[in-house]
Amino acid sequence: MANPDTFHLDLRNVGTEVKTFEHALGDDFFKALEQEEILGGNIKVTLKIREAAGDIFQLDIAANGTVRTVCDRCLEEVVLPVDTAERVRLAGNDEGGSDADTDTILLERNATGFNAAWLIYEVIATSLPTERTHAPGECDADMLGRISGIADAQDGEGGNEDNN
Ligand SMILES: [Zn+2]
Repeated sequence: MANPDTFHLDLRNVGTEVKTFEHALGDDFFKALEQEEILGGNIKVTLKIREAAGDIFQLDIAANGTVRTVCDRCLEEVVLPVDTAERVRLAGNDEGGSDADTDTILLERNATGFNAAWLIYEVIATSLPTERTHAPGECDADMLGRISGIADAQDGEGGNEDNN
C-alpha cells in the first residue's frame, strides 16, 4: 500500500517519454494526510508524468475505487465511488505559456522533486459530490431520529433551510 512518501516524484529523472506509476491507496494514505474529509478508502491511482518542456511537467492523475466519508444526512460513514482523472502542469518557471484548460502548479525554484500526495488527495476529494449521502432509505434511522430531535429542539422558528 502506498503512503504519502510514495508519491515523491524525482523530477530530474522525468524524461520526455511518459512514465507511468500505479499504486493502491488504502486507509493509511488518507490517515497520514492532515485532513478529516476522507476517512479511508480503497483507490487505484495511476500517475503519468512527462517533461513537456524545460522544467515544465505534465502530470495526469487517474483515481478509481471507493472512499469512506461522513454522510451529510445521518452523520454515519458512507462509501462513495471515485472515478476521476485530472491533468495538471507543474512549472519550474513561468515561461512556456500556460494552457487555460490545465491547472498549473508552480514549483519551488530549482525544485528537483515534487510530492504529489496532496494533489492526489485533492483530485479525489473534489471529485466527490457536494452532497454526500447514503442512497435513499439507507441512512442510519436511529441517528436520523436523534439528529431531527436535536434540530426540532433548537429550531423554534420552524424554518428548515438547507444552506450548504
Ligand atoms: Zn446517511
